[in-house]
This record gives sequence, C-alpha cells and structure tokens, in this order.
Amino acid sequence: MIQLQNVYKRFNDTEVLKGITMDIQDGEIFGIIGQSGAGKSTLLRCINGLESYDSGQIIVNGQVVNIRDKFLLRQLQKRMGMIFQGFNLLERLDVYQNVALPMKFWGIDTHSPAAKEKIEYLIRMVGLEDKMHAKPRQLSGGQKQRVAIARALVLDPEFLLCDEATSALDPEITKEILALLQKINREMGITIIVVTHQMEVVKQICQKVAFLSNGKMLAVGKPEQLFVWPKEMEIRDFLREES
Ligand code: ATP
Ligand code: MG
Repeated sequence: MIQLQNVYKRFNDTEVLKGITMDIQDGEIFGIIGQSGAGKSTLLRCINGLESYDSGQIIVNGQVVNIRDKFLLRQLQKRMGMIFQGFNLLERLDVYQNVALPMKFWGIDTHSPAAKEKIEYLIRMVGLEDKMHAKPRQLSGGQKQRVAIARALVLDPEFLLCDEATSALDPEITKEILALLQKINREMGITIIVVTHQMEVVKQICQKVAFLSNGKMLAVGKPEQLFVWPKEMEIRDFLREES
C-alpha cells in the first residue's frame, strides 16, 4: 500500500505539490490525471524516491520514503518498476539485453538458467518472442513500450509506475498496451499507478483516479463518479477541453 499524507514539494520558489493526501491500495490500478504542469510526474518521482519531498510523508508498505537512506532507497526502487512516454531503451542493446539490464544493475548473473528463464518468460508475456534479438530501432512504438514493460517487471516489483506510457502511441496501440497492463495487474497481482492526461486511459483501466490541478488534489474517486457529473468546475473544464 502507498500512502501520501500532506506531501509538499517545491523547486526553488515554485510550490509544485501542495499538500497531497491519497491512499493507493494493493492490487489497484490507480490513475493520476491532470493538465500539463499539474505535478503528476513530480508526484510519481517522489513516490519512487527519484525526487525528495519537503514535508508530509510518503509511506510504502509501512516504510517512510526517505531518499537520504540509500539502503532503503535501493530496496524501494527495486520494488517499483517504471515506464515512460519515451520508452528509454538503450539503442545499442537488443530486446533481450534491454530486459536484462536491471538484473545487471543489481549484480544478478543474467546467464544463469533462472535469469534466462525469467527474461524469456517476460518477453513472451509481452508478445515479443519473435523479436528477442531485434534492436529498438527495428521496433514500432508499441513494441518498444512492450520491451520497457518487460524490463520494468524483471526484478519482480510490487508496483508498476507508468508516466504517460501511452501518450506517444496511436489509439489502437494504446488499447493493446492498456490491455497488457490489465493482464499484468490481474495475473501478476501488481499494483499499477497510471499518470496520464488522457481521460480515455483512466476510463479504460483505472479503478480509482485522483485529479491533480496546480499541485493540489481536487478530487479522488471512481472514474465514473469523477467524470460523469463532476462537482468541481475545474474538472468540468478539463473534460470540455479533452473532448
Ligand atoms: P506534464 O503533463 O506536462 O508531464 P506534469 O503534471 O507531469 O506535467 P511536472 O512535470 O510534475 O508536471 O511539473 C510540475 C511543475 O514543476 C512544472 O511547473 C515544472 O516546470 C516544475 N518542475 C518539474 N521538475 C522540475 C525541476 N527538476 N526543476 C524545476 N522545476 C521543475
Ligand atoms: Mg509529466
């Protein structure tokens, strides 16, 4: 479980997160939506310890996130896989090597039978068994994101954090990737946080969604509660702009 309690974060003189409080339950697909600059990516980076926060608390499975504690930080980051809009694959490595990369980083022998089995299993799971030794430049956007997803799962994380993971993909491919995320959530029991500005993404897979605006959480609830007849004027404006 991930708990945020009154989290504040500033960059120089700009307050970017202004007292965020939310709970993300185990097994959930939790959406964080809001306009550009709302603070969504910053919030995600505070949760996985890539960024510090100034006050309040972020608690992951009972443990306070504190990036000054390097040991705990490494444990935390091992438990959180992350995928991005730009995929972040290494061009000179093939699919297999890209997926194996976090193991290398952790000093795990990637040539052991168990490691090979895990890597090949994940590549099959994302549907790229025939691309095992292709380089990223030989793949489509959707295929690249599949590689990134397999890589994010290779250390058996409890959480998968997705930052605009489908924003660079066309609608059909987006649907396929979202279906894959649902399968990962269902079959592997991984809790997924989906940061997006696309309402369709939230409607399609999120059980719960938080609406962020200018560093504050305006509302949280089931997508149908938030989107069908929102009380908040800002959410209505957002929906109008999106449609
Ligand atoms: P987008 O939808 O465009 O990705 P976002 O909701 O993810 O937006 P953030 O990237 O979290 O927004 O940025 C929130 C605010 O914090 C913005 O005003 C941004 O300029 C500022 N910001 C983010 N990272 C930094 C940084 N490293 N240094 C200074 N300001 C930053
Ligand atoms: Mg962002």
